[in-house]
Amino acid sequence: MANAAYQVVARRYRPQLFADLIGQEHVARGLSGAIESGRIGHAYLFTGARGVGKTSAARIYAKALNCDAGPAAEPCNVCDACQAITAGQDVDVVEIDAASNRGIDEIRSLRQNVAVRPARGRFKVYIIDEVHMLTREAFNALLKTLEEPPGHVKFVFCTTEPEKLPITILSRCQRFDFVTVDTPAIARRLAQIVEAEGAEVSPEALHLIARRAAGSMRDSQSLLEQLLGAATGPIGIEDVHAVIGTGSEERIGELLAGIAARDPARGIAALDAALAGGADPGGVLEQLLAGLRDCLLASVGCRENLLANSSGLGVDVAALGRELGTATILAMLQILDQALGRMRTSGHAAVIAEMAVVRLASIEDFESLAAAIDRVAAAPVQSVPGLREKKTTDLTPAKAAQPANGQVSPPAAASVAPVAAVAAVAAVAVSVAPVATPPASPPPRARSQVALIRAATDHPLVTHARTLFDAVVRKVEPPRTREPERDGVLTAGLVTDAAPDDGPAEAEPEVPDG
Ligand SMILES: [Zn+2]
Repeated sequence: MANAAYQVVARRYRPQLFADLIGQEHVARGLSGAIESGRIGHAYLFTGARGVGKTSAARIYAKALNCDAGPAAEPCNVCDACQAITAGQDVDVVEIDAASNRGIDEIRSLRQNVAVRPARGRFKVYIIDEVHMLTREAFNALLKTLEEPPGHVKFVFCTTEPEKLPITILSRCQRFDFVTVDTPAIARRLAQIVEAEGAEVSPEALHLIARRAAGSMRDSQSLLEQLLGAATGPIGIEDVHAVIGTGSEERIGELLAGIAARDPARGIAALDAALAGGADPGGVLEQLLAGLRDCLLASVGCRENLLANSSGLGVDVAALGRELGTATILAMLQILDQALGRMRTSGHAAVIAEMAVVRLASIEDFESLAAAIDRVAAAPVQSVPGLREKKTTDLTPAKAAQPANGQVSPPAAASVAPVAAVAAVAAVAVSVAPVATPPASPPPRARSQVALIRAATDHPLVTHARTLFDAVVRKVEPPRTREPERDGVLTAGLVTDAAPDDGPAEAEPEVPDG
């Protein structure tokens, strides 16, 4: 490791052929096919998450174009040109990192040099990494070159955020979308590297590393390198858990089971066991999040192959997903997301994790709650005494809007359904406490009923229903214009208009806005 020539794993095992681009076969086929058929575009855009092989593909493409034996479908990787490009020392292949200084100077020199013929290769290849970071001026300068590039110039733009590129640039590029690499493919590649390094890593550990990398080949290799550097013997799954701060899968499974059983004590015990085993609170919550994500997918009927995170948890996530129900799982995921967000700014990560576990294990069953609301909303309005008396006066305008011949006019007809729906929601509130008017000096029981009514009528759902109801009534019968009110408005307007004319700044705080 002390060797000065030591290269990190991710660089040593960088793909050198289109065929080595794991998970990006569609890109490899497209590029190598274009070179083979002689239909080489002058600008390519490589998009995708970090560490999925964009820059590697750009270098392979540059080599295939300038290889002594090329242009070829694959570079030879032995000629001077190929080796110089691999080492990043070729004069004709210019790599620009737009993220480092927003590219102004580089693009300026690019514009000056673009007309100069390549020094030894066939093409000048400009690879611009993180191209979305270029400034507006740099983009404009680049665009002038892109509009009419000399035949010997090829561009490869790499970006993780293509939506930030100007449409004028996008429309001049052939686009290749790099996908995140799936976990088994990453694990297979890691196994090859481990073998080449002469190390020993258990398949479960490799799988966990691959999963942790979430589709990024480079991240997986960095993590493997960290483990190899610290290891004194064979690497097992516990070593990986220790490095990434996660708990063993069985403990996460037990935690999930405790939450599903609405048993906070069982959940906390599983959490504490995971923390005692060296996991960090954020890592555990993230594992829980991944497990619940699988429950969510199972609850909406997704196929098994989409449930990637929970294979080792030791619980049947499909059954758990059905048992919990989609609405409850969504609420749980929200609690977890919130807790993880708070952890980033708090010094009490363990307490936040415990709070989250208790909240998750005490969450209401949202499925049965939703069903109860549906039942109440579907109940016939007439069955609720008091509602009619209370709302009759409000309903009359709707009836008055009917023409004399008894036919319902279209606007009124349209309003009938919302009125019924609003009435049904309002009925919920009334049915909670069917006491119309409290007596002058209410006994304790009645007082609590008054409080109940007040609580019910102040409920957000009822407030919303009231607003809807009022809107429907207003639509049927527009508000009558009354003289005194109009006078009031007029006066108010005059006051507002007059105030700015008064000039002095002292009056300003008094002037209402608009
Ligand atoms: Zn070559």
